[in-house]
Amino acid sequence: MDLFEYQARDLLAAHGVPVLPGGVAETPEQAEAIAREIAAPVVVKAQVKVGGRGKAGGVKLADDPESAKARAQDILGLDIKGHITHRVMVAQASDIAEEYYFSYLLDRSNRTFLAMASKEGGMEIEQLAVERPEALARIPVDASVGVDEQKAAEIVDAAGFPAEVRDQVIAIAVQLWDVFTKEDATLVEINPLAKAPDGTVLALDAKVTLDENASFRHGDHDALEDAASADPLEAAAKEKDLNYVKLQGEVGIIGNGAGLVMSTLDVVAYAGEEFGGVRPANFLDIGGGASAEVMANGLGIILSDPAVKSVFVNVFGGITACDAVANGIVHALGILGDEATKPLVVRLDGNNVEEGRRILAEAAHPLVTVVDTMDGAARRAAELAAA
Ligand code: GDP
Ligand code: MN
Repeated sequence: MDLFEYQARDLLAAHGVPVLPGGVAETPEQAEAIAREIAAPVVVKAQVKVGGRGKAGGVKLADDPESAKARAQDILGLDIKGHITHRVMVAQASDIAEEYYFSYLLDRSNRTFLAMASKEGGMEIEQLAVERPEALARIPVDASVGVDEQKAAEIVDAAGFPAEVRDQVIAIAVQLWDVFTKEDATLVEINPLAKAPDGTVLALDAKVTLDENASFRHGDHDALEDAASADPLEAAAKEKDLNYVKLQGEVGIIGNGAGLVMSTLDVVAYAGEEFGGVRPANFLDIGGGASAEVMANGLGIILSDPAVKSVFVNVFGGITACDAVANGIVHALGILGDEATKPLVVRLDGNNVEEGRRILAEAAHPLVTVVDTMDGAARRAAELAAA
């Protein structure tokens, strides 16, 4: 889960990283009030989960509360790379003498954590990495050792930070490691980490991605979720503990096992080419159980998606045998009643497949077509979606 800057900033502050005071506003009046409280020049910043806000006109300085209100007026509603700005952060502004960069991230390809640091921050780090890779220090961090002062000094010296900020950046590097590990983040990034004219080093922008697999350890992280902008179907699926992702196509997909569902998406997209580019409407893995209730929940979500024209149920019977899945489908259609209005193509294979197919044949539900092969079923589902 990516956080908004103001949420990331609060987490950094809670672990001692120096930031400037500020607050978040949804209206120009609220922005004005925060600026009045700060009683100093402020920066008004679009809160959208995308980088490059500065260049897009989403970061503006304001000398007094009235102009903070005007700048908030300009920025609220602004579309930044497809993200509409619903909130701004109003923070005390700082003059900037130098801009640095510092981050920790999970480096999946090298199966380690990675510290990245540069004394040339401010610009987008991807650009720096391409244009001047030698200016970006990349130091692996052993998860079992972590970042103490000595490790922090190694990172800071590898990046060649100026001597007068060395101690401050080392301290921030240790505090930021605290944020990274104690909050179970997969990314913490400060860009810019700025040196003010008086020599103080401050985090002026913060980006944090939390590892949702660890959310059971952090009751307080639930509150950071942006429920308002979540896809309503994804939110409903999450509430029912379904592993669902909304996609842009027309064929609803239900399968058991993430691998099977992924390949089902590919097969449907391929089959759909023949029918004018019909594509999968979602990813939904109902997991091992596939009880009637789980099947009904899954079907209910998929059928309530107005984009869905047909549904492909692709189940491979393993520990849960095909007859149980077939009963699940029949009962689910019973539970849904009139809510089930779109054709279903079902492909069952694996453990006890004959009995599963017999149950579906006997139920003879008018919306259900059983097709024996995965390719054949995908083709039929695509055809029905295009009809
Ligand atoms: P991003 O463009 O989305 O990464 O947003 P940032 O928060 O990094 O802001 C972009 C740029 O605005 C920074 O690189 C700074 O140069 C500038 N900026 C941000 N906060 C301040 C501030 O308090 N004072 C000044 N003078 N500039 C700021
Ligand atoms: Mn930035």
